[in-house]
Amino acid sequence: MSLTNLLDLLPAEIESLVESLGAPRYRGRQIAAWIYRKGMTDLDRMTNLPRDLRETLAGRARADVPATERRTPSQDGSQKFVFRLADGARVQSVLMPDGDRLTLCVSTQVGCGFGCTFCLTGAMGLDRNLATGEIIGQVLGVGRTLPAGARLTHIVYMGMGEPLANYQATVRSLRLLTDPRALGFSPRRITVSTVGLASGIERLAREDLRVNLAISLHATSNDTRDRLMPVNKGFAIEELLAACRRFPLPFRQRMTFEYVLLDGVNDSPEDARRLARLLQGIRAKINLIPFNDWPGALFSRPPLPRILAFQQVLLERSITATVRWSKGEDIGAACGQLSEAVVA
Ligand code: SF4
Repeated sequence: MSLTNLLDLLPAEIESLVESLGAPRYRGRQIAAWIYRKGMTDLDRMTNLPRDLRETLAGRARADVPATERRTPSQDGSQKFVFRLADGARVQSVLMPDGDRLTLCVSTQVGCGFGCTFCLTGAMGLDRNLATGEIIGQVLGVGRTLPAGARLTHIVYMGMGEPLANYQATVRSLRLLTDPRALGFSPRRITVSTVGLASGIERLAREDLRVNLAISLHATSNDTRDRLMPVNKGFAIEELLAACRRFPLPFRQRMTFEYVLLDGVNDSPEDARRLARLLQGIRAKINLIPFNDWPGALFSRPPLPRILAFQQVLLERSITATVRWSKGEDIGAACGQLSEAVVA
């Protein structure tokens, strides 16, 4: 019988598991506290549990944090982590310090099946979805490497894969992140980024999770978006933005729209004006991401004056628009650059 990964279970489910083994439910709370408060995943070292429970539990479950295969620091202070999963697949997470903030970008799939033409991860294709515990395992795995006293402050679902295409595991991992009996993050400090699956956005809206949402928009006309992002043929811009307008944002938070600037493709002043019109009525902020080059890419980064002119059009219309010079560019960890040989 294969062992249950305790990181796949919500705290209440750990309680039910220990109850099914004849122990009181509070033992489950103790196990969750060991894993999520103390970072201890070795059942044998959970010393406030009776020995016979530890032994019985070891025959049914384990707490499996993926192994860190590589850790690459960038000159800008960010670090790329490559995790090797139990079946040999690999995923990446990126740790990004910024003043008081320590943000971790996690992956939700091995590769990605959406094939955005500017994205290196998309060029890999989709291998498989991650399990809940493999998403949470990235948070625990990176947390173990932090110096004493340091703590992750923000989590963004912007690594490899499309979170809403791995819906169940994404939502369960969000519940573990926000549950005070598990990792206890404020939902305001968590952002889920989506390629624009309008149906998934509607579904997430009903979960009452109150996390932030980031939308990979990247174009202002359906013609251009169809070419850049095949998903647009299923969910056109109008449908996507209608779902965004209905999404319950956390109090005083704004929805983020990601916009990769591609030279001569989507970077004209007319594009900027159209973008401002499209986002009217949405509490929005825009991240402008100058394209990060990768070998074989079909696109290039616009010259600086064109990037700044695009931003200026938005600022003149009182829209918050920030140029994001991606972190981790020198280590292949910037937006749209995450790629890894899928298996050994
Ligand atoms: S941009 Fe996101 S959704 Fe599109 S291919 Fe890359 S990882 Fe997938």
